[in-house]
Amino acid sequence: MQGNETFDVVVVGSGSAGAMAALRAADHGLKVLIIEKAHKFGGTSATSGGVMWVPNHQLDGGNDDSREKALEYLDSIIGKPVNRERLEAFVDEAPKMLNYLKGTGVEVAVAAWPDYYTGRPGSRDDRSIVVPTFDGRELGDDRYALMREQYNRFKLFGRYAMDLTETFALMMQSKGWRGVAAKMITRYWADRSTRKVSHRDRRFTQGAALMGSIYSQIFKRGVELRMETKLEELKVDDAGRVTGVEVSKFGRRYVVNATHGVVLSAGGFEWNQELRDRFYPVPGLTRHSSTPEDANRGETLVAAEKVGASTEHTEAGWWIPTMTLPMPKASNFHEIHQAAFDVGRPWSVVVNRNGVRFVDEACGYDQFGQAMVADHLKTGANMPCWLIFDAKFRKKFSAGGLMPTVHTPEKKVPEDWWGHYVFRANTIEELCRKVDLPYDAVKQTVANINEYSKTGVDPEFGRGMNAYDQMFGDPTATPNPNLGPIDTAPFYAVPINNGDLGTKGGLRCDARARVLDQEGNPVAGLYAAGNNSGTPFGDVYPGAGATIGPAMTFGYVAANDIAERSGNQRA
Ligand SMILES: Cc1cc2nc3c(=O)[nH]c(=O)nc-3n(C[C@H](O)[C@H](O)[C@H](O)COP(=O)(O)OP(=O)(O)OC[C@H]3O[C@@H](n4cnc5c(N)ncnc54)[C@H](O)[C@@H]3O)c2cc1C
Repeated sequence: MQGNETFDVVVVGSGSAGAMAALRAADHGLKVLIIEKAHKFGGTSATSGGVMWVPNHQLDGGNDDSREKALEYLDSIIGKPVNRERLEAFVDEAPKMLNYLKGTGVEVAVAAWPDYYTGRPGSRDDRSIVVPTFDGRELGDDRYALMREQYNRFKLFGRYAMDLTETFALMMQSKGWRGVAAKMITRYWADRSTRKVSHRDRRFTQGAALMGSIYSQIFKRGVELRMETKLEELKVDDAGRVTGVEVSKFGRRYVVNATHGVVLSAGGFEWNQELRDRFYPVPGLTRHSSTPEDANRGETLVAAEKVGASTEHTEAGWWIPTMTLPMPKASNFHEIHQAAFDVGRPWSVVVNRNGVRFVDEACGYDQFGQAMVADHLKTGANMPCWLIFDAKFRKKFSAGGLMPTVHTPEKKVPEDWWGHYVFRANTIEELCRKVDLPYDAVKQTVANINEYSKTGVDPEFGRGMNAYDQMFGDPTATPNPNLGPIDTAPFYAVPINNGDLGTKGGLRCDARARVLDQEGNPVAGLYAAGNNSGTPFGDVYPGAGATIGPAMTFGYVAANDIAERSGNQRA
């Protein structure tokens, strides 16, 4: 039975921030406990794309990126005051974190992905890092199925794991995609020994590859991971130092002491409507979040506030457009589908309830969400907005969870989806009537898009006119891969919500990941990383992996600081 136990470090939350803190602390020789509220470990991180944004990483023999270029880029995009020391600490420590991770035996590779503000000074297209694949069964058969799984949409037919290269090949139906799909399916069924124990593909990819490979290192070091164990309160001594945590497991509460530090890495507050209402100018709804349902509720943020902690950058999420569909074969459950790349494909347009555009639809997903919020504050006519597309788009691209006809022909779309989750009509006018959009405005918007498709120039928002947009365009649409005329019946509309990948703000921390109080002094013994802490980037999402990159960096920094202060520093 647990109770009255003492560890050197208690890590709260088993996502990327917590996992890195635990691994690094263990390598400093510290005795670590990870507590995890959910019945599965790995957090949102394990369900994610697993991309880490690490500027100046110097992988592959190095390139000509530098600390200065990284800061030049960040300075050119960040629009609000941020803690300079913390921003610089990220730029300095992220490459060290990656190098350390690589040194533990985790395979890492550069993904060709333009920074999200392409063209800004210092931007590049080689700062996003992935763990290509990992054999999940290396975790052991008892743990392999207990790590959070990716969402169905991130797997082929909801079953076969895809790495990023395969995802893009299938998503764009690029040359040879059928062969790619056949290979994945064959590999899965040929793995007879795994088929006997689980439906889960042992070939972990994306977030599963990242988290699986880190946890295999964590388990090798004998770190204890305790699931179904929720942080309720922080324990402090008379001097205000955090000395441990009060947790609950299956209804029983007990205390675990932490001699050298508690690391809060329990994600953001996206599933807590009360905190959304308190912090966000346009709160949105918890159920539009694309993170694991009901997991990250900000309990640790509230517990830290009770011991004097302050918060920052809490007015926004890591936005991503989402749409909702019923979950197949599960009564009364819905699935949130990301539509990040769908909204910028050719033969479509996105409008607010006034029937007008408000953004370059092909921009980075966080920028898209920021534009939704700004437009809603201005017009009151957003959240949701509408993705309108024609039969050419429908044939080729997904619209959130509505897969292209090559995958889901019209006759396979469940009857109850039409007119409720997705809308279809033979004319734009009829479509507008069905979804209550002003026809005259939509008619003009569609006419504009059709005109821009001919010239390749979007004079309003510059859609398809930069490298990031074009990456998710369709090269067969010319002259602009993100623009095509919306002119082929039937026409469709799907409501798009302002979903999120987590929250941007959280506990205010310094460059050493120490949680700060209202006066800006560290709360002794208390650290935070990942979405539990305020982002170093303030209001922007610099590039693919810009939540997990800093999460792991500040998990690493926290462990180093704890080790240094406790006299246990090793590597
Ligand atoms: C589909 C998808 C794809 C994404 N792809 C990327 C990507 O490729 N790159 C990128 O940078 N970002 C991506 N994101 C965002 C990214 O996954 C998250 O921002 C990131 O994983 C947050 O990491 P974290 O460690 O802070 O929190 P999490 O990974 O969410 O982990 C927090 C953990 O804390 C636990 N917890 C919560 N409360 C308590 C409590 N009271 N006590 C104990 N435990 C608690 C939770 O159950 C959870 O397991 C994606 C998100 C989604 C949904």
